[in-house]
Amino acid sequence: MISNGSVTLVVSYVNIVFPIAVFLSAQTMVGHMTDRFVSVAEPIIGEEERENINRVLDSGRFLQGPLVEEFEKKWADYVGTKHAIAVSNGTTAIQLSLNALGLEPGDEVIVPSLTFGSTATAVVHQACVPVFADIDREIYTLDHTDLERCLSDRTEAILPVHLYGHPAEMDKIRSFADEHDLAIVEDAAQAHGASYKGDPVGSIGDVGCFSFYATKNITTGEGGIVTTDDDDIAESIRLLRSHGMANRDEHVSLGYNYRMSELNGAIGSPQVDRLPDFNRRRTEITERLFAELDDLDWIRPATVRDYVDHAYFWAPFELDTTAIGMSGKEVWKKLKEQGVETRHRYVDPLYKQPVFTEHRGFNSDFPWSANEHTHDYGNLSLPNVEAVAGKTIGLPNHPGLDDEEVDYVIETVRGFDS
Ligand SMILES: *Cc1c(COP(=O)(O)O)cnc(C)c1O
Repeated sequence: MISNGSVTLVVSYVNIVFPIAVFLSAQTMVGHMTDRFVSVAEPIIGEEERENINRVLDSGRFLQGPLVEEFEKKWADYVGTKHAIAVSNGTTAIQLSLNALGLEPGDEVIVPSLTFGSTATAVVHQACVPVFADIDREIYTLDHTDLERCLSDRTEAILPVHLYGHPAEMDKIRSFADEHDLAIVEDAAQAHGASYKGDPVGSIGDVGCFSFYATKNITTGEGGIVTTDDDDIAESIRLLRSHGMANRDEHVSLGYNYRMSELNGAIGSPQVDRLPDFNRRRTEITERLFAELDDLDWIRPATVRDYVDHAYFWAPFELDTTAIGMSGKEVWKKLKEQGVETRHRYVDPLYKQPVFTEHRGFNSDFPWSANEHTHDYGNLSLPNVEAVAGKTIGLPNHPGLDDEEVDYVIETVRGFDS
């Protein structure tokens, strides 16, 4: 599955030594009886990454330099955009995108209700107000039929998330955005390599945002990147990520230090080369899990629309909690005790988080105070997200797993002992 010999070595090290170490510590701590532990995510780092890191250490040049630039070029090529601008993480990628698009305090951004919190806190970081849309009942991404309800005279952008690696319905979102003159920022932090009707995610909206956090499809340790075809947006993000400095002596805008360090770029560049192999293996494992667990009455493999390439950040299953007689959290916990680590998110719709319900902004109710509408999130109850939240489970499907480990996952889930 992975052609490079050095990677295979690392993979087997990770698979053999790491689970044993975890098992030993689990034994000591809880005294549990499983002899296996299959983890849900593991970074795979090979010889090229190590050599690159050593080059940086030897050169003493840690600040954003040639390896970050190489990483940016490769990522722009991979996604098919004119520009890719590396930043410190996926959250700052979103914040700077909204900033570069010209959003002002109190402007509204429509976000889906089922996603990682920082999709929406990044909106608040840009002093804007998140407006929560329901999700598609089948693919869990932003429900385009709910956009009309979310629209106001302050709406400036839509922020669809390609959740678990499945692209959002971009055609529908694009036509709504065009009709109402809204920008689209894609949150592709879970969808490296996914595509929608042949177009790579990150190249469809005005701007695309990726994260390279340790558990994502590929990693730089911590890191993010913005993709765009727009020269002005790209220029503005380059300024904003580095103190708004046009040169050594001049601060021309309210910038930040959101640069990517050369050490992170050193890891990222070879990771881009590995991504197609990683995603092939993720797909192979996920399709096998879907096929072999499909007949169980308590789990339902997530829908995959036939015009997308799924990045399978997750192998997502929806639980029938009535059929199994347990909550999502209980299933997650029991599977872990039996040696299968799973993902179990997101437990609540995002509009229930205190940061939003209590309008906890900049130690005040800003940016909500900069907007004339109520935004009483506590009153929201959106049917699809309420039906799904807390009921999704992601089984291990990362490319470091061998077939025997996948067998173990299947056996454990099939023989699930409630
Ligand atoms: C991981 C993630 C982010 C944030 O990326 P970081 O690099 O952790 O800041 C944003 N949105 C989604 C959907 C994510 O999964």
